[in-house]
Amino acid sequence: MNSGEVIWSEDGRAGPNFPANAKRAVENSQLRRNVRKATGTIRERRAGLVAETPDWQQLRHAGAAIKDDVLNHLDRYLEQFEQNATARGAQVHWARDATEASTIVTDLVRATGRREVIKVKSMATQEIGLVKTLERAGIDARETDLAELIIQLSNDRPSHIVVPALHRNRAEIRRIFLDHMPDAPQDLTDDPHALAEAARLHLRRLFLTTKVAISGANFAIAETGGLLVAESEGNGRMCLTLPDTLISVVGIEKLIPAFSDLEVFLQLLPRSATGERMNPYNSMWTGVTENDGPQNVHIVLLDNGRTKALADRTGRQALRCIRCAACLNVCPVYERTGGHAYGATYPGPIGAILTPLLVGVENAPQLPFASSLCGACYEVCPVEIDIPTVLVKLRHDAVKAERHRLQDATFAAAANAMSGRRRWTAALRLAPLMRFIRHGAPPPLSGWTRTRDLPDPPPESFRDWWTKTKNGK
Ligand code: SF4
Repeated sequence: MNSGEVIWSEDGRAGPNFPANAKRAVENSQLRRNVRKATGTIRERRAGLVAETPDWQQLRHAGAAIKDDVLNHLDRYLEQFEQNATARGAQVHWARDATEASTIVTDLVRATGRREVIKVKSMATQEIGLVKTLERAGIDARETDLAELIIQLSNDRPSHIVVPALHRNRAEIRRIFLDHMPDAPQDLTDDPHALAEAARLHLRRLFLTTKVAISGANFAIAETGGLLVAESEGNGRMCLTLPDTLISVVGIEKLIPAFSDLEVFLQLLPRSATGERMNPYNSMWTGVTENDGPQNVHIVLLDNGRTKALADRTGRQALRCIRCAACLNVCPVYERTGGHAYGATYPGPIGAILTPLLVGVENAPQLPFASSLCGACYEVCPVEIDIPTVLVKLRHDAVKAERHRLQDATFAAAANAMSGRRRWTAALRLAPLMRFIRHGAPPPLSGWTRTRDLPDPPPESFRDWWTKTKNGK
């Protein structure tokens, strides 16, 4: 089993088994070394840049306030965005969940008559499992971000939001290219430039021949109907400009009210994400521009649990997240386990709150406990998400959901037994067993008998007595 495979809970609960996944991860010393080295480097670079930005705290307040304004008036901003994007020639689609979003994208690609698409790195498309859905529809979706390419070639899963292949070192990447990239030179070394060049040549053919691209977006601007993608390699820009058709899957929380708000976020994001003063590539487009870039522009606005998260008064702040991964890079739990242990699209501290909020805490009850509550994530978050407070609240919800789950299971078993004469009679025959558990029941019943006595069952059930008495007559 490689580190990307998820161990799921065995006790009937849905969701990843974090303790089991974490145990396997910490036993992998190579993985721990790779993660520690990569997070340590980004952490130091970020700290240096924050120290040279005198208004950093004011920028954080501004980022949080802008996002809160969006969340408080999401309905209005979404409609404004749709109107402006449509007026500029884009087609806006609405998707309630992953299935709806994947179906919309698959149908749009099918309508082009093409069977190959290129992809810009996008968390939203990972969240909805888009590549697998396209694969099942006979559409070959190729990742073009270098790290995503490494992940796709090795049939692995991303382990970090910004640096998805952070758990791989150079030697491992060289091996992956040699084994899975047919056009990789046989004398390829693990020199970073040689690896990047091999990937560049491999991807160039795709950029020049593929007519459909799929992206996400870092920001959607309500005032203009435009989208922005920030990236480091330029591969994203190739995808966003060369194909005829561009389909962008955008979480509804990605909205910002105005173009001028980018002044705040384009300072916060690169410093927090990669430890850079600005993103090497900020690609922005608004609808269709005649004879310039894609002529068919589609935007799929994705809910997939976001409105449910919005309804949680404490948890809704998680929707401010700009996916910078600064919280991952400082988290002592993430540093030891890496991202695969979380078993979900979003790893680390933000994943520990966002996943339960999106899918329901009853479906990921262990994730809010994947934290030492040290508070380092809150200190670095560029939009001031109070992750520890949300974690504590979700722990409370998880315990409550677990209690209900046990109660539901008990009443379901009782209802089942009582709904048939034979079953009920058989159940009554088990009553004498209660004598054995009266003074020491096994878990989980021991929780009940630890402080309570169970009365001894009568030596004979009413049914047995009745049958005997009637026959005796
Ligand atoms: S929670 Fe904050 S620090 Fe973590 S990824 Fe989101 S914006 Fe970045």
